[in-house]
Amino acid sequence: MSSPPIASLTESNTLEFPDNHTKTSASLSDSTNKVNEPLQNLHLASHEVLERAQRAGRSKCSKCSGSRMFYCYTCCSLVGVSQEEIPKVKLPLKIDIIKHPNETDGKSTAVHAKLIAPDDVSIYTYPCIPEYEDERHEVVLVFPGPDSVTVEDITNRLLRLADRDSPCLQDHHRSAEEPAPKRMKQDTTAEDGEVPSPKKEAKQGRHKHLLKRVVFIDSTWNQTNKIVTDERLQALLQVELKTRKTCFWRHQKGSPETYLSTIEAIYYFLIDFHQQCLSEEYHGEYDNLLFFYSYMYKLINKAKHAAGKL
Ligand SMILES: [Zn+2]
Repeated sequence: MSSPPIASLTESNTLEFPDNHTKTSASLSDSTNKVNEPLQNLHLASHEVLERAQRAGRSKCSKCSGSRMFYCYTCCSLVGVSQEEIPKVKLPLKIDIIKHPNETDGKSTAVHAKLIAPDDVSIYTYPCIPEYEDERHEVVLVFPGPDSVTVEDITNRLLRLADRDSPCLQDHHRSAEEPAPKRMKQDTTAEDGEVPSPKKEAKQGRHKHLLKRVVFIDSTWNQTNKIVTDERLQALLQVELKTRKTCFWRHQKGSPETYLSTIEAIYYFLIDFHQQCLSEEYHGEYDNLLFFYSYMYKLINKAKHAAGKL
């Protein structure tokens, strides 16, 4: 693909999924965006493959035989399109998505992340989640709360956690007047120069960062709290994203319009991480995470136009 066409989407204030679900006011008006229209100016691969698949209609998932379009949200596999035909994105860190068991799979956008970044994304169904206890100096949970920090603060906060948790790092940051025990010194050198590097690299904006894994919760507004209070997640540093309005057409009743769909949250987190933690300019590297999302958004708008509702 030489120069991927830019998705041209119509502006919308109210969205409605044609066959079900509720209306929402959804207009992305983040001042940091180049334009006020949502999902504009993305560097996306051609949607031609999805247009073709849509013309062909639904087909059966080879694993569960469910009737699906583009992908099977139950099996997390492509249907009617092949892996080679859709873009693949390499992420600068690993992403764990924890799904609420009651969440209706078909409504979730978590599967988009797994399909587009298969090497870096894992999906878990609560309560089966990984143990993060020994990794809390390199894992964060994206969830707004009283103790949450900004993406910009992640580097400093993780360094502090690492200082507290790891004897090696403690040793490294120990003040000069307090000589470290010999054994710890050996541990430090045995780490192959790994210990001092994260801070330096984070500051120099190289492609390496202290942060290795980000946890997202894929759940309705109401169910999220049950997961986030799980003690296995309680120990993790919580990160809050900048306020952005959702473009999601399946707006959840009672949730604020700043409650992003999972794929939006992942996408915006990565942009902030790229700019603020890796200190690099963003050139659309992760835009294809919205490959399916932007196409479906476009479809919804078309349907609205056809119905004379826009
Ligand atoms: Zn399936």
